[in-house]
Amino acid sequence: MALMGLDIKWGRNINRFILCGKQRYSGTLLNNPCIVISYRKMHIESIERKTAVLARPTLKCLSQVATINPTIGCSHQCAYCYARGYSIYPGDGKVLVYENMAEKLKKELPRRRKLPKYVFFSSSSDALQPIPQVINLSYELMQTLLEYNIGINLLTKGRIPIKFLDLFKRHKKLVHIQIGITTLNRNIQRIIEPYAATPGERIRNIEQLCNVGIVPEVKLDPLIPGITDTKTNLTALFRVLQKYEVNAMGINYLFLRPFIKKNLYKSLRKTSLWEEINAHYQNGSSINLLAEKSRVQALDVHYRKNSYHAIDELAGLYKISAYVCGCKNPDITEEPLCDINWGKHFQDTPKQKGLFASQILTEKIF
Ligand code: SF4
Repeated sequence: MALMGLDIKWGRNINRFILCGKQRYSGTLLNNPCIVISYRKMHIESIERKTAVLARPTLKCLSQVATINPTIGCSHQCAYCYARGYSIYPGDGKVLVYENMAEKLKKELPRRRKLPKYVFFSSSSDALQPIPQVINLSYELMQTLLEYNIGINLLTKGRIPIKFLDLFKRHKKLVHIQIGITTLNRNIQRIIEPYAATPGERIRNIEQLCNVGIVPEVKLDPLIPGITDTKTNLTALFRVLQKYEVNAMGINYLFLRPFIKKNLYKSLRKTSLWEEINAHYQNGSSINLLAEKSRVQALDVHYRKNSYHAIDELAGLYKISAYVCGCKNPDITEEPLCDINWGKHFQDTPKQKGLFASQILTEKIF
């Protein structure tokens, strides 16, 4: 597709297009909120938000947290994404953007009797998808919330544009960021998160956040057994995180549902990774997530316990503390932790620090 002389193809060019922040291009797109753009592999469509903007997700660990998803669907198209199985998911290669969401939020906030302390971005999408409409909408939403003194908790696998860094810098005390990253290996990341930011770009996010005085947490979620939970992979990652004094991370293993398995198979079938994953889940167990009312295939509980313990120990060498959310590991801890923010994971839940200390390990993972 050619737009104002710029040849846009899905993938590299569209990412560069956003990153460059060339206003003449993004302005063209955003000044027309009803514009429908089709890329070779991506269809972006504006839709109207009819219900309230601040919603409570069904995930138990976030059930008390106001959440905003600026889009239905997500251009990052991670192979393991659970949201790709939702009934409202528009299909791969399609993102529906709520064109009226920012305006609606501005009307909604003054009418609310009680304002939330903070808002989570996002439970089933990413606020920083490299699409101009999404970036600008997310910016406006966050700016509005911060002006109301409402905090932002952003979890992202995208790139953080400069204008967000400037905004965050002005409201440092109200901003909590989690960078989703499980590997520095671009070859692996390219397969499992094809259109998300590269590992290098996510580390750059961390560096730039530190430069504006915000040390983010990281989220190793989901870890893929035999692929991203290896000592080599994690050591390389922790070394870099230590450089930026990242000191807290959430860890969770991948769980499988039939559609997640199908998507993983589609992405990994031509690699040896598929066999590796399958082998690990042969002895898995079916568990009921606290997060949702459905059963999933999880790794064997001993494997998870041993591995969380080993990862926690390894991370400790780099002065990073790990926590595990009970939503996705109800057979290990009852503490749902995703709603705890502001770096208080260990302050509010001291048990987490010793979660694995008393476990009798049956098997050495590393
Ligand atoms: S970034 Fe999150 S919502 Fe988007 S595809 Fe990946 S897992 Fe799904």
